[in-house]
Amino acid sequence: MDPEAFRREAHRVADWVADYLADSARYPVLAQIAPGDIVRALPAEAPDTGESFDAIFEDFERVIMPGITHWNHPGFFAYFSITGSGPGILAEFLSAALNVQAMLWRTSPAATELEEVTLAWLRKLVHLPGDFDGVIYDTASVSTLHALAAAREHVAPNVRARGLIGRYRVYCSDQTHSSIDKAVILLGLGHESLRKIASDSEFRMRVPALAAAIHEDRAAGWTPLAVVATVGTTSSTSIDPVAAVGEVCAREKVWLHVDAAYAGVAAMVPGYEHILAGAAGADSIVLNPHKWLFTPFDLSVLYTRHMDLLRSAFSLTPDYLQTTEVSPVRNLMDTGVQLGRRFRALKLWMVLRHFGAEGLKARLSEHMRLARLFAGWVDASEDFERLAPVPFSVVCFRSVPRALGSDETALDAHNEKLLDSVNRTGAVFLSQTRLGGRYSLRLAVGNLHTTEQHVARAWELLNNLR
Ligand SMILES: *Cc1c(COP(=O)(O)O)cnc(C)c1O
Repeated sequence: MDPEAFRREAHRVADWVADYLADSARYPVLAQIAPGDIVRALPAEAPDTGESFDAIFEDFERVIMPGITHWNHPGFFAYFSITGSGPGILAEFLSAALNVQAMLWRTSPAATELEEVTLAWLRKLVHLPGDFDGVIYDTASVSTLHALAAAREHVAPNVRARGLIGRYRVYCSDQTHSSIDKAVILLGLGHESLRKIASDSEFRMRVPALAAAIHEDRAAGWTPLAVVATVGTTSSTSIDPVAAVGEVCAREKVWLHVDAAYAGVAAMVPGYEHILAGAAGADSIVLNPHKWLFTPFDLSVLYTRHMDLLRSAFSLTPDYLQTTEVSPVRNLMDTGVQLGRRFRALKLWMVLRHFGAEGLKARLSEHMRLARLFAGWVDASEDFERLAPVPFSVVCFRSVPRALGSDETALDAHNEKLLDSVNRTGAVFLSQTRLGGRYSLRLAVGNLHTTEQHVARAWELLNNLR
């Protein structure tokens, strides 16, 4: 693409993006197509000769856009509702243009150092102590994998050279995200080494059960490797009693990893500092700015006070990557599986500067207000019931038609059908989970463009279609 063509197309794309972001609600939020539609609409072979950007862009609008589920839509209430934001999108554009590969400090000093500066800003915003050092990965799944690898390096440093010998346990609650299961499997510990501790009636880990499990396992020859506590579980956003879990970990000398992928950023909001207070003594903690901090996907942050262990688990420098910079230069390739890495810090930096701490806090507070408002409507209705407390911006609830009484099977089927009808409207998109065995509808607020009117529309649709 010659420079003039690039300039022209970049302006066209910028206009398109501005229009799209101004009114993403003109699309149905959930893609209304059938499996295979996109594949069938595209040729089976790559083109022999290059095509014009006109033709490519036309197909983007004609074929690709109908297959997009609009995470930018203000009626998106499924999973965790996320939004990118103007500054983040512009940063992605610049980062793609620079095409920096930040494996070594010298392969782009600014990428390495901006990561350091930005993660210190974020750490202070959520009130974590200064001995937490941070590193950016793509996702929380990968952050947690690295945290558990560091914990393994701590407990069993021989694994790197000799492979896994012995039986190691990782503990989490029965509400924990599946990324913990995957990390344990991938680290070669075996899925059986993950012990799930029962949660209480509000979906929080039962600490006495954790302590008992560790004792029992030690007696049976297992070595405890780590405990994963969650601040904002994926189903109901419950908060494990992290301080009490931390006391068990300190007593037992076991690594504490805190999964605060979704909710951790809320610690910056006045009145919510306590949610990470217990995590101040943790060994590692993961936060996802791509979830609830308006940073385009993907950007996850791992903080640990043992960056040395993370490095000893992963650093390996072949001859062709030896550099002459004297330590303490940080080479990001030493802190993970990947050699090459994108310049992700740029978007977090631009997002933090654009909104400012006050702007971020105001938006997070508003999302939590909208969730409480919706929860209030559920509580006041005879036709619905709430299935979990609402500590953040997610509401778990279900429709309870009187005719179905306490027939749990019928209630599950009824709510599954209701969810499908509501999502088919294209106006809103909610998701589901299971809580205490019951099928639960789940409304997650997290989009920058969502207002009271959109939440009210979801409530209206639920009432009309139930
Ligand atoms: C979303 C989520 C994850 C996984 O996040 P990815 O960045 O998609 O890997 C892990 N843990 C919790 C608690 C989550 O909410």
